[in-house]
Parts: sequence; structure tokens; C-alpha cells
Amino acid sequence: MAGTKSRAYFAEAVKVIPGGVNSPVRACKSVGAEPIFFERGKGPFLYDVDGRRYIDYVASWGPLILGHAHPEVVAAVKAAAEGGTSFGAPTWAEVELARLICECVPSIEKVRLVNSGTEATMSAIRLARGYTGRKKIVKFDGCYHGHADSFLVKAGSGVATLGIPGSPGVPEEIVANTISLPYNDLSAVRECFEAVGQEIAAVIVEPIAGNMGVVPPEPGFLEGLREITRKHGSLLIFDEVITGFRVGLGGAQALYGIEPDLTCLGKIIGGGLPVGAYGGKAEIMDYIAPEGPVYQAGTLSGNPLAVAAGLATLRLLRRPGTYERLEELSARLFEGLSEAARKAGLPTTGNRVGSMMTLFFREGRVTNFAEAAASDTARYGAFWRAMARRGVYLAPSQFEAAFVSLAHTETEIEETLEAAQEALREVAQS
Ligand code: PMP
Repeated sequence: MAGTKSRAYFAEAVKVIPGGVNSPVRACKSVGAEPIFFERGKGPFLYDVDGRRYIDYVASWGPLILGHAHPEVVAAVKAAAEGGTSFGAPTWAEVELARLICECVPSIEKVRLVNSGTEATMSAIRLARGYTGRKKIVKFDGCYHGHADSFLVKAGSGVATLGIPGSPGVPEEIVANTISLPYNDLSAVRECFEAVGQEIAAVIVEPIAGNMGVVPPEPGFLEGLREITRKHGSLLIFDEVITGFRVGLGGAQALYGIEPDLTCLGKIIGGGLPVGAYGGKAEIMDYIAPEGPVYQAGTLSGNPLAVAAGLATLRLLRRPGTYERLEELSARLFEGLSEAARKAGLPTTGNRVGSMMTLFFREGRVTNFAEAAASDTARYGAFWRAMARRGVYLAPSQFEAAFVSLAHTETEIEETLEAAQEALREVAQS
């Protein structure tokens, strides 16, 4: 856990940065710890400022599917930097990245690059509202779509971790147009559309939820959303900021065979640099300025360094066997963790899709936010601390995913499982 130097740095950080961190969950409050300051990352490992090594399953919250400082990504970023860091004018690399995304993600015909997942979802909603001429959006409890005003209603991730329903500073008039329904509950969606379907611009969903912990869609849920939105002339937006290029090259939409109208991307497509993107049918995307009337822009959008890192990452992911390898490692980790929890006599339940997974500290299935929220977060905190002490870095919240990368090997997975066996026994005895 946080060593002497980390603690000293944090004491200084809180003087000049709110809460000492630039994004809330990093504060590690919900796991009863102080943040660990890191100096560098290499492959599956993070090294803290006190000289300790950790096997990393946070992966910068998802982007680092190749692990830290992959040599080809680093080389691409270096080469790009040598050629100038930003032009504010188009580059060929942006076209290459856009083409690659369009080739891989089934429903994307055109794509616009932005700088974060938040920008991607915020812009996709604006486009959906502009395109349909409607105001309301439907989202799901415990899903997180970034921190734009419209989405801060029963949101997941840090909002769920802090246990707050929304956020001061977001006018009621704005969130009055946001409807939040229980995840995996099609009858709630049907009822809602029967009441106000004509006013709904879009349904936005994490096709595999990752921000209440991992919660997969129940069979028929995504199909139902597709059918209902189509029937009522609303758009279906898949927020694949986490799942895009994580559960396969085509994301969750390829995995489940559903075509949304718009897709939001981020994280992996930037290879660890700040990127987001939204894309979809050309007819809808052409509603964006300068082609169409819906305004959206960005000084650093399509930034050469970020695009270079993203291109290098996606090209490596396209090599044969990538996702099979991730599946193999992830299955071993997940089964080992579940078995260790059983042996320790701890009530837990796990969810996994490919290389994203969560071990919930509760019994019974977790299919929505209410069920995820019934987890024993104090126990998760104890588990997090016990793992950190043993050199394994997990997300400092129950309501997040653990990510396996291609840099992990059987050696790190086995080391993690040994640590988990001890950690879970320790938690069971406390
Ligand atoms: N959508 C999803 C599904 C996310 O997980 C996140 C971030 N975790 C976002 C949107 C927002 O992305 P960013 O933090 O890059 O703004």
C-alpha cells in the first residue's frame, strides 16, 4: 500500500489539487487507503515511488490492453513527436485510424475523433438530439457515460463509489430530460417508451456494463433495446468506451450481433493517450458540422501523438490469436479467483466477459446496479488492501472492472492467484 514517499507526495498534492487527485476514484477513499503514486509502468507491472512492484489490473482504467510502455506504441509516439505534436489541420494518420475503426466496428461508417470518452458520449447525445429533434434520453442506473451534465443521474463508476445520486452544479432542467432505468429491465424500457416514446432522442447503454463492476447484458436485453428504439424512431447508442476493442475487434456489438445507430469509443483506441471517438451510420454522422448543423469541435482532436499510439495499438490487436490469448489468461484468472473465494468461505459472485471481470462481495447473481450495490464494499476494501500489500494493483472500488492485458503471462496470473488465496483468507478471518 501507500509507502512513505507516496504518503508524503499525497500530503503535498492535497494542498494544490482538490482531493489530491485529478479524477475522484484515484483517491482510494472507498477502499480505506491513500493513493499509491506511481513512477513508471512496464508490461504487466507498475512501479511505485517507494520502489515497489505491482501486477497491474487497472490498466489505466482500460486503455492499456497491450500493457505498459509497449515498445511499438512508444516508438510510434516518439516518431510522431519528432514530427510535431499538433497542427490543428488534418493528417493522413487520422484517416488511417478512422478507416481502421470503420473496418473493425460493424456499425461505424463514419467516425469523428475527440479527446475523451466524456466528449464522445456528450457529442453523440447532442447529435442524437439534433438528428431526431427530440430532447429526452434514456440511460441505465449504474452505467457511466462520462461527466457531461446529462449523464450525472444515477451514474456508475466514481459517482457510485462516492454514493451520490447526481451532482450539484447540474441544473434540474437539464437532467429533467434524462430518464434512468434499471439495467437489464426491458419491461421498464417498454413502459417508458409507451409513455413518452415520441420524445426520446436516444437510448444510451454500456452493452456490457463496466462501471457498476462488470455486468453483462441478459439474453434479449440488447435485442429488445434495438427493437424498441427502432419502433419509436429513437437512436440506439452503444457506449463502447470500455468494450470497444476490449471484448473483440468489433466490440460488444460484434460479440452480440446488434447494430447500434451510434457508437462511442475511447480508451484502447488511444493506446494510453487522450482520445475518444463517436461514429455510426453516415447519414447520421453527416449531421455534424461542417457537413451538417450539429456543432462539435476540438483544438487537439485527432492529435498526432494520440493517433499514433492508437494506430499502433489497433494494428497489434489485429494480429491473429490476440483475443484467444486474452480469453485464455482471463478465464484462468477468473476461475482461480472464484475458487479462492470459495475455499476461503467468502460469499462472492463473479462476472466476466473476455478480459474484463469483477468479483462482487455478495452472494447471488449481479444483473443490475441494485444488486451490485448490495455488495459488501468494506470487504472489497479489505481485499484491495490485502492485494496491494502483496503487490497486486486492483481498481480501488468494488464498482469497477479488472482488466487483463496481453502483457500478462501465466506467471503473473499464478502469482496473482497465490496472493488472492492469502488475501481472501485474511479477509474471511477479519
Ligand atoms: N463511457 C464509459 C463506458 C466509461 O467507462 C468512461 C470512463 N471510464 C467514459 C465513458 C468517460 O470516458 P473519459 O473518462 O475518457 O472521459
